[in-house]
Amino acid sequence: MIEPRDDLAQVLEEAREIGWGDPADYLRDLQRHDLDALAAAVCRTDGELIGVGDHDRPLALQSVSKPFTYAVALQECGLDRVLSYIGVEPSGEAFNELSQHEDGRPFNPLINAGAIMAQALIPGDTLEEREALLLDRYAALAGERLEVSEEVLRAEQVRGDRNFALAHMLASSGMLAHDPHEVVQGYLRQCSVEATTAQLAVMGATLAGGGRNPVTGQRVFDERVVQQTLSVMLTCGMYDSSGRWVAQVGIPAKSGVSGAMLGVVPGALGLATWSPRLDSYGNSIRGVEVFRRLSDRWDLHVLRHREPLSR
Ligand code: GLN
Repeated sequence: MIEPRDDLAQVLEEAREIGWGDPADYLRDLQRHDLDALAAAVCRTDGELIGVGDHDRPLALQSVSKPFTYAVALQECGLDRVLSYIGVEPSGEAFNELSQHEDGRPFNPLINAGAIMAQALIPGDTLEEREALLLDRYAALAGERLEVSEEVLRAEQVRGDRNFALAHMLASSGMLAHDPHEVVQGYLRQCSVEATTAQLAVMGATLAGGGRNPVTGQRVFDERVVQQTLSVMLTCGMYDSSGRWVAQVGIPAKSGVSGAMLGVVPGALGLATWSPRLDSYGNSIRGVEVFRRLSDRWDLHVLRHREPLSR
C-alpha cells in the first residue's frame, strides 16, 4: 500500500538537491526570497489532500491559469465556437511566439496568443464582468476564493509589450471583439491570481474528477469540457518540451513562469508543485523532476500498457 505523504516528501527532498536554474528575469526581484521555495501537493478524486514543503504559501498561477480560462470559455461558449477561434495543435515554438494559423487562429490555448484569445472569449461587456466570472469559476475549482496579486500584476505590466503585440496580431486578424489593451489587462490579471500549491492540487483534482470538485462536491465543468482541456494539456501544456514530457511523464500538465506546475491523472488525482528555478523552456526544473519520479513510482503514465479489464 502506497503511503503518499512519505513518497511525496521523499521525492521533494530528492528534487531539492538540484541547485541550478533561475527564476524568470522579470520576476527576479519579486521571487528573490522564494528562490528555494519548494512544495508539492496531491489531491485525490476522493477529496484527500496531502501537501509537503511550502504547500500553503501563495504563488502566482501565471500560465497554469491558461487551461482553466480555456475551460471556462468552453463551458460558456461551447466547443464549436471556441474551436473556431483557437486551434489545438502544438506550436513547437516558444510560449510567447507571434504565431497563428493562416485563418488567424492561435495554434492552441496554452501559448500566450491562444490564452489571450481565450480571455477575450469569456462572456461579459467589461473587463470587470469578465474577471468576476473567471474568479468565480477559479474559486469553484479551488473550493476557496483566489485573488489577484497587485504586486505580481505590476511586474507583468512593466514587461507587457510582447503580450500587447500578440493581442494586436489577433485584432488585426479580426479575432477580437474587445479593445486589445483591455484583453491583455484581463490576461495579465489572470496570470497574477495567486493560489497555494495545495489549492492548485484541488483545482487539478477537479479536472481529474471530470469537472466536479472532490472537496466541495460542486460541479464546475461538464465532462466534455474537461476532456477537451486535458487533451490540450497533454499535447501542448509544457510548451516546446511537450513531446519529451509526454514520453517521460505521460500525464496532462501545465507549467507557469512562477515555477508552478499542475498535472492531472484523469479519474485519480491532481498533483501540483512549486519551485521558481526554471529551465530554458520556462518549466520548473525541480517540478519536472518531482513529476518524473512520481510518475514512475505511482505508475501514472496514462499510455502505459495495463492488463485488459477482466470480463
Ligand atoms: N504572464 C506570463 C506572460 O504572459 C505568463 C507566461 C508563463 O507563465 N509562461 O508572459
